[in-house]
Amino acid sequence: MVFRFHENLIAKGVVVYTGEGVKRITEESKQGMTVETETGARLECGMALIATGVRPEISLAIQAGLEIGELGGIRVNERMQTSDEAVWAVGDVVEVKNFITGEWSLFPLAGPASRQGRIAAGQHLWTGGQIQRCTGHDSLPGTGNDCRSHRCQ
Ligand SMILES: Cc1cc2nc3c(=O)[nH]c(=O)nc-3n(C[C@H](O)[C@H](O)[C@H](O)COP(=O)(O)OP(=O)(O)OC[C@H]3O[C@@H](n4cnc5c(N)ncnc54)[C@H](O)[C@@H]3O)c2cc1C
Repeated sequence: MVFRFHENLIAKGVVVYTGEGVKRITEESKQGMTVETETGARLECGMALIATGVRPEISLAIQAGLEIGELGGIRVNERMQTSDEAVWAVGDVVEVKNFITGEWSLFPLAGPASRQGRIAAGQHLWTGGQIQRCTGHDSLPGTGNDCRSHRCQ
C-alpha cells in the first residue's frame, strides 16, 4: 500500500525520502526551518509534521509470562482474557483476531479500547457477557480512498 501512496505523492510533485532518519530540525532558514537528515540532506520548509506509530508496552505482560503475539501485543480471546485465564487485557496493548480476516491485529484506537473495557468488565459483572468482534480498515490520504474505520462490537 505504501508504494501506491508514494506514487500518488510523487505524481503531485512531492519529493519522497525513504529509509532516511531525521537528525535535527533547526530554525535557521528563510522559509522558517531546516530539517537535517542523517545522510546530510538539508530541507528548508515552513512547517514540519511528525507522524509516528504506536507499539504496545508489554514489559509487565512479559514478566507475568503472558502470551505475546507476533505483532507485539498481548494475545487475548474474544472475552479479553489473556493466556492466563485470571488476567484480562484491553486497549492498545492487546492483539485481537480481526473477525473478518481471521488475522491477529492491533487496533490502537479509543473506540475499540472502550468497547473492550466494557466487554472485559461484563465478564465479571454478569454471566455470559458479550464477546468482542473487532475489525479494521486503514487507508492513506492521497490514494483516493481517504477513510479509516476500526470497529469493535
Ligand atoms: C496523539 C494521539 C491522538 C489520538 N487520537 C485518537 C483519535 O482521534 N481517535 C481515537 O479513537 N483514538 C485516538 N488515539 C488513540 C487512543 O488515545 C488510544 O487508542 C486509547 O487511549 C487506548 O486506550 P488504553 O486504555 O489502551 O491506553 P491508554 O489510554 O494509553 O491508558 C493506559 C494507562 O495506563 C497507564 N499505565 C501504563 N503503564 C502503567 C503501569 N505500569 N502501571 C500503572 N499504570 C500504567 C498509563 O499512564 C495510562 O494512563 C490517539 C492517541 C494519541 C497518542
